[in-house]
Amino acid sequence: MATAQVGVVIVGAGPAGLVLGSLLLDRGVDCVILERRSREAVEGRARAGFLAAHSVRVLTENGLGGGLLAHGTTHTACLFRSDRGEFTLDYGKSGQGEAHTVYPQQELVRDLVAEYLRRGGEIRFGAEAAEITEGAVRVRGGTRVTGRYIAGCDGHRGIGRAALTAHGTRTARWDHGVSWLAVLAAAPPSLDAVGYALHERGFAGHMARSASVTRYYLQCPRGTDPAEWSEERIWAELAIRMRTDEFGPLRRGAVLEKAVVDLRSDVLERPGAGRLWLAGDAVGLISPTAAKGANLAVLQAELLARALEGALARGGGASLARYPADCLPRLWRAHEFSHWMSGLLHGPAGDDDKARYGRELQYARLESLRTSRAHQDFFAENYVGI
Ligand SMILES: Cc1cc2nc3c(=O)[nH]c(=O)nc-3n(C[C@H](O)[C@H](O)[C@H](O)COP(=O)(O)OP(=O)(O)OC[C@H]3O[C@@H](n4cnc5c(N)ncnc54)[C@H](O)[C@@H]3O)c2cc1C
Repeated sequence: MATAQVGVVIVGAGPAGLVLGSLLLDRGVDCVILERRSREAVEGRARAGFLAAHSVRVLTENGLGGGLLAHGTTHTACLFRSDRGEFTLDYGKSGQGEAHTVYPQQELVRDLVAEYLRRGGEIRFGAEAAEITEGAVRVRGGTRVTGRYIAGCDGHRGIGRAALTAHGTRTARWDHGVSWLAVLAAAPPSLDAVGYALHERGFAGHMARSASVTRYYLQCPRGTDPAEWSEERIWAELAIRMRTDEFGPLRRGAVLEKAVVDLRSDVLERPGAGRLWLAGDAVGLISPTAAKGANLAVLQAELLARALEGALARGGGASLARYPADCLPRLWRAHEFSHWMSGLLHGPAGDDDKARYGRELQYARLESLRTSRAHQDFFAENYVGI
């Protein structure tokens, strides 16, 4: 059974789909969001937390930033530790002088769902898109939802991306060859800054999420089963890699979640064609080293909203034809920076000549970052910018 045609059928109620939906409604475009999970599952999924200044601007200027303005906290510094010491880089005082806003993704998603519904939008939770054909989405169970355009905001493993690649769209891909154990702990942050610890046992990271929750990362071998990491082992390893003997203890708490993330990046050569256009992780997966994923999702949602509005208002694809050129260069710049960050954070394993060479390069990069104002400005511009 088909339902009446809408302007845009959006697949996926993550940051990309929800921002796109609200911006389209604001511009008078009717849309429907199909989301395979329940509302509780979508609103409870803890992932990102660092919003770049551009994302905050897009959200607040479009009436979507109430929660983050009320409850988010500002972050302007990151700290690097290694066996050669520690230094703090106050990126808020470098580059464009911009800050991150720390606001957990699940809370942002909760705000976005509420605002989209308040604007009169329709979300069908528990509606899994099974197939995308020209201007229509078949929902598992039989219903067909038709739209003048389809927006695939269904993440990296979604069918939006699969529909494009099945028709020949190619992907550029990189496997960073490392994995992180991503831990969410019911523990207050231990540092006032994002913490990056370089260690011969592997990288460790610290990122605040709220006054009582902190995300930690531990580099681990590919194929690691999170069950191998007991709470005890996680805190013991974090203490070693964060060098707590030298720099002071971590504030511990119960581990709420642990999952292994393989660091991989990829970008589609084109983010859409014809009546199907993508935004967010569907266009490109980015390694989490520089916390860019959710920010790129917001950026692309903003650009795609403008392009779809233009295409629907003027009945032509000229504004959509510009979407790839608007979105891909910025995406690639974020990928280039994340790739560089990955090289900074992950040293080679072992103690042969090649490993020693690789580690010295890591130290040289860190030293340049510690001492060069020009490098700090460049870092800040890319770290907070999007
Ligand atoms: C541990 C971790 C930490 C991270 N930290 C950061 C950070 O600090 N900063 C940052 O910017 N980014 C971070 N990211 C990345 C960020 O979370 C993602 O880039 C972001 O969620 C992408 O948003 P999206 O809307 O494109 O996709 P998603 O959030 O994946 O949303 C896609 C939605 O589509 C739905 N869907 C999928 N298939 C279908 C279907 N067939 N039918 C209907 N619905 C479907 C899914 O259920 C999902 O709700 C992190 C990611 C992880 C895993």
